[in-house]
Amino acid sequence: MGASTASGGEVVTRFAPSPTGFLHIGGARTALFNYLYAKHMGGKFLLRIEDTDRARSTDPAIEAILDGMTWLGLDWDGDVVYQFARAERHAEVAQALLDRGAAYRCYATAEELEAMRAEQRAAKQPMRYDGRWRDRTPGPDQEGKPFVVRLRAEQEGETTIQDRVQGPVTVKNAELDDMVLLRSDGTPTYMLAVVVDDHDMGVTHVIRGDDHLNNAFRQMGIIRAMGWEEPVYAHIPLIHGADGAKLSKRHGALGVDAYRDELGMLPEAVNNYLLRLGWGHGDDEFITRDQAIGWFDLDGVGRAPARFDMKKLESLNGHYLRDADDARLADLVAAKIGSAISPERPDSAPELLRRAMPFLKVRAKSINEIAEGASFLFRTRPLDVDEGAAKLLDDGARQLLARARDALAAVGDWSAGALEAAIREVAEEAQIGLGKVAQPLRAALTGRTTSPGIFDVLVLLGREESLARLSDQIDLAAEH
Ligand code: GLU
Repeated sequence: MGASTASGGEVVTRFAPSPTGFLHIGGARTALFNYLYAKHMGGKFLLRIEDTDRARSTDPAIEAILDGMTWLGLDWDGDVVYQFARAERHAEVAQALLDRGAAYRCYATAEELEAMRAEQRAAKQPMRYDGRWRDRTPGPDQEGKPFVVRLRAEQEGETTIQDRVQGPVTVKNAELDDMVLLRSDGTPTYMLAVVVDDHDMGVTHVIRGDDHLNNAFRQMGIIRAMGWEEPVYAHIPLIHGADGAKLSKRHGALGVDAYRDELGMLPEAVNNYLLRLGWGHGDDEFITRDQAIGWFDLDGVGRAPARFDMKKLESLNGHYLRDADDARLADLVAAKIGSAISPERPDSAPELLRRAMPFLKVRAKSINEIAEGASFLFRTRPLDVDEGAAKLLDDGARQLLARARDALAAVGDWSAGALEAAIREVAEEAQIGLGKVAQPLRAALTGRTTSPGIFDVLVLLGREESLARLSDQIDLAAEH
């Protein structure tokens, strides 16, 4: 597609969340698509917080949005625009529309409008404002009375939007009533504010969820009345759950912060997953940020609702964990298990985790799983042994452990190879398989039945701690 807008200028996109809740996964995808399209076109990506709904907008929600965007690396250009701060400008445009006869004052009271709707309901007509003040001039009766400002919407013909995702979409103008632009308290409606802000911010491409498609026709009415340039619209299908129903909490419609904190995901995994949710580049599964910027285009956005699949996201996350720098993961895991780290060895934690990371991350799908897998490193002696591990530590096993401890104590070079050789010898002497020795060893060293390879565990724990943990279990047997 062309490299710029109809007028040949720079592409400007924006993400315009309402801070009435956290940055959820659908919003994050909208932000990502806007970001990528702007970068792909060498343009700008702007952020506007639509906080005009004072009752429902909250500061924590604003913080969560900014925080989530930063975590995902969706850096916006320039300062954040706060919509509420622009209310005067919105009122100014409403006045300009009044001045040019494209809008009018409507003095209908709430009761009158309710009666109008009741009649429409009874007559089974569509409920919409009937234009009763469209051609009326306010008289002395209206002096000092509250009014709203309504758009004098085009009633003839139809409006077509060439949507970059939905294709051409046409609506009969008669279906759009004269919407309110300014409320009786002088505050702007969402419809007016969005159009004015997009215009003033120079937005050329409006990329957003297709739940806003109907609004686009109304917004177009304002744009045309002002004689402003129409943006390119791209309404992307909403995300559905794996079962095809609208995405809900149950499906993973959580805040982005939950993906980070509760689910232990890496931002690159979430980005990669969201990118492929409704957009694709052949069969490519793993797509870096740079590749995404190089390849992303609106033409590749599908028209069918994408289905959210947590399993896929988890396996992507596993891929990115294996790719990730071990020191970075060590810091993330240390932050997660902070309080579990033994006060006796607090300084060693990040270093120990970094050394352990190659073994810990092999099969993990989340930071949480790595943290769980790493916990053996930080348990304090004597270990609490879980039920499964306790079963492996019967008297026979403890005798075996005593032999293993002696063999290990005699090893001069505490390396995985030397340790394995020593344990193999113990197994051979006892005429049992290596696994039969490894199982109680694991139980005694970690207190669990699963862990990284047992020789890696020994190396990570070190000579002193390993032998002490073994002795704890052996001595326990002696006490019986
Ligand atoms: N503030 C609107 C929302 O959060 C988006 C408006 C728009 O993108 O035009 O749904």
